[in-house]
Amino acid sequence: MTKALIIGGGVAGPTSAIALEKAGIEPVVYEAYDRGADGIGQNLVLAVNGYSALLALGTGHLKAGFDVPRYRFHLGTGKKLAQVLNGDPLPDGTVGRAITRSDLYTTLRDRAIERGIEVNFGKRLVDAKVTADGVTAYFEDGSQAEGDVLIGADGMHSVTRKVIDPAKLTFRYGRLWTTGGYATGVSVPSHTGTEFMYLGKRGFFCHILDDEGRIWWYASITRPEEPTSQQLAAISPEDWRQQLIDTFSVDESAAVDIIKATESIWPPRPIQDIPHLPTWRNERMAVIGDACHAVSPSAGQGVSMAIEDSVVLGKCMRDIPDIAAALERYEQIRRERVEKVVAFGKQCSRTLEANGTVRRVGRDLFARLAFGEKTSAKGHESMRWLYDHRIDWDEHVDASTGSRTA
Ligand SMILES: Cc1cc2nc3c(=O)[nH]c(=O)nc-3n(C[C@H](O)[C@H](O)[C@H](O)COP(=O)(O)OP(=O)(O)OC[C@H]3O[C@@H](n4cnc5c(N)ncnc54)[C@H](O)[C@@H]3O)c2cc1C
Repeated sequence: MTKALIIGGGVAGPTSAIALEKAGIEPVVYEAYDRGADGIGQNLVLAVNGYSALLALGTGHLKAGFDVPRYRFHLGTGKKLAQVLNGDPLPDGTVGRAITRSDLYTTLRDRAIERGIEVNFGKRLVDAKVTADGVTAYFEDGSQAEGDVLIGADGMHSVTRKVIDPAKLTFRYGRLWTTGGYATGVSVPSHTGTEFMYLGKRGFFCHILDDEGRIWWYASITRPEEPTSQQLAAISPEDWRQQLIDTFSVDESAAVDIIKATESIWPPRPIQDIPHLPTWRNERMAVIGDACHAVSPSAGQGVSMAIEDSVVLGKCMRDIPDIAAALERYEQIRRERVEKVVAFGKQCSRTLEANGTVRRVGRDLFARLAFGEKTSAKGHESMRWLYDHRIDWDEHVDASTGSRTA
């Protein structure tokens, strides 16, 4: 049986393991941490296209989290624009889902383990080599593992990506810093499951009420210059809280009350993406998820892309016996879509920038046009390429569709 070494136990790691196991391959997952990736307390929204791809694997619905079927835009003046669907629901009523990163990772790993998949923790990949008849992974603790194929699901700072192509990759900076948290004991205008989004005068703020009365929120503020890690480390939690309060105090929104009611605010994180990775694979290794196409969080699509990749990879490995040809086909199917989604994320980040009066006025004008009550239906139609994307697990993948080189 073909054995796949899967590096990373985040989203793409366990999901691709489930897809490969369904495809008749023996996957083994290696995760660097005991607890998972950093930012474990953060939350995210799984879009309906990604949820649909997950359900295509037969894993069932997510129990953790809560449904987020819609969002509504406001300007910083408090003016309400349109309320928009987060993509159309699936035929069974499934919609986008807000979930903590930790719950998502745990759920996916547990579902992999339930299927009998081996998941190893505390195994940090440091190197990998293609051998005469397979591939060997080397871990920081001195151990190694042999397999037929190695899948790098090891996130934005992927070691697998560097093994496949050592050329230095520079991330694109999105001119925004992002943050967020959970607020309790505060009552603000909200409806469960609706993302309340504010295009503020100096920053973007979004809050969602969960089923238990907690407010989940995230924000981005404009910072045209990319910070160094030393500059970020020098910002204390109290400085950061004050910067956020100052940023949002000029808006007609609940942002300041929410920030004040948040015990622990996530440290500032610069938004970065990977618009184009020249080399996704070699004859026995490939990268998936953020390792090959990190998307700006402004798009709310990174998890969905990681899940879609995983399902397509599983199908290619199931239907194309030659490993190199299967990896090539996976890239052929995925590259165009993920690069389009990364470009969309960049565009979203640009829209969220509030840098200078002229830019802000232009942005608000654009938002009034795009999210007016009459025009939002057109906007919904224009996003079908993203949210209506469906992957049929049972559909056969044909190997012979011309070549697109990496
Ligand atoms: C602030 C923020 C908010 C976001 N919000 C959203 C959102 O609302 N919706 C959305 O869809 N996406 C969102 N994203 C993006 C999303 O989190 C990522 O796209 C997604 O997690 C990618 O999954 P992945 O499995 O490829 O990588 P990751 O989730 O990063 O997982 C990689 C895993 O690999 C492990 N690893 C790393 N190096 C090694 C190694 N050398 N050896 C072994 N294991 C290793 C890590 O510990 C980690 O567990 C957000 C991102 C950020 C930063």
